Amino acid sequence: MSSPTNEITAPDVIGRLEGLARFSAEGPGVTRLAYDDAWCDAHQWLAREAQTLGLAATADWAGNLFLHDRALSPGRIDPPVILIGSHLDSVVRGGRYDGAYGTIAGLLIAATNRGRPGLPVVGFVTCEEEDSRFHGGMMGGRSLLGRVGDAELDVVADRSGVTWRQALAAARERGCAAPTGPGGTAAPPLFRPALQLELHIEQGPVLEAQHLGLGIVERIAGYRRWIARIEGESRHSGTTPMRMRRDTLTAAAEMILAAERVGVEAGEPAVVTAGFVHPEPGLFNVVPGACELWLEVRHDRPEVLERLAADVAQHCREIAQQRGLRLALEEGAAQTPTPLSPALAEVAVRLAQELQIPHRRMPSGAAHDTMIFAQAGIPALLVFVPSRAGVSHSPDEFTPESELLAGARFMDALCRRLAEHPPA
Ligand SMILES: [Zn+2]
Repeated sequence: MSSPTNEITAPDVIGRLEGLARFSAEGPGVTRLAYDDAWCDAHQWLAREAQTLGLAATADWAGNLFLHDRALSPGRIDPPVILIGSHLDSVVRGGRYDGAYGTIAGLLIAATNRGRPGLPVVGFVTCEEEDSRFHGGMMGGRSLLGRVGDAELDVVADRSGVTWRQALAAARERGCAAPTGPGGTAAPPLFRPALQLELHIEQGPVLEAQHLGLGIVERIAGYRRWIARIEGESRHSGTTPMRMRRDTLTAAAEMILAAERVGVEAGEPAVVTAGFVHPEPGLFNVVPGACELWLEVRHDRPEVLERLAADVAQHCREIAQQRGLRLALEEGAAQTPTPLSPALAEVAVRLAQELQIPHRRMPSGAAHDTMIFAQAGIPALLVFVPSRAGVSHSPDEFTPESELLAGARFMDALCRRLAEHPPA
């Protein structure tokens, strides 16, 4: 393997991660929501950093940012490129690594690979991934790939009613998104990805617990969600004997435990979660006559996901029936499990072996931009570095410097290899 001539250093990574973390609404932690002031500040800072490293920075209509060799002309979609990067937005009071780490790595790797033979390497920064301001679902990845219809810009809105189009107009005034060109949202992407790579913190505890430096992700889990509405009878808690109650909250409790059992018995990587419960009327002295319960099942294999989903739904129906309650199970959002490129995973595993970095193949339980690329038929690969105690979406998110650096250098080496020898 050819050794890199300008190797990424710890200050390159750590200094810029700290730099990016400065752009946040009030703390604790990092709050950088799509198109808000902190997001625009971070966007402009990244563009300046790219220029400092000798790259050009070009935003598309949605505010996705490409960091690329000045010799490349965005919009002229040849030649195909390797896209490497992550997302700029954060959750509310999140950490300084989620998205930011892959973004900084993409910037540095685009710089070190500039002018090298083979496929050009372009850093990408998606505008929105977390669903924390808008609930559009992977707005960045979808817009980057030309998978957003113009009408959606008026439908997707934040909690205060600001639409995607309005938020975008404000960002555009600050130069953080290109004016809508001919064809509007249907305009072709600025670069045609031959393949896509994303480096990310694991956001789970597996790599740290197993003392591994890298996770090569093979599949991204899908999920099924329901809103269960249980109806019984609100009665005086002091006068209604236990055997004569139609209590919806105890039913919800039983459903939650049954759902948990389904997840435990299925084994890893199955996860089943009850994330929200709302009994009514919510008083000391009234048996709850109505209850809303949110349930989610995740798995990375479609057939297992379907089976677990059917099991959870069946348990809920049986529990409601046994207790004489009415149950409406409303299907919420669903995502099918997404396989990533086996060929890219193979190259990554071989490289990790050669570099003697302890690693494993693994699924991802969390959704990532990479999923959108893979679903669009683009060979895509996601690579994880450890997260201390698995903590993420929290100001306590942390990955040691040595592991951040090793991950960035690994992806740099991977890019070089793939640029010269892209898998067929
Ligand atoms: Zn992320």
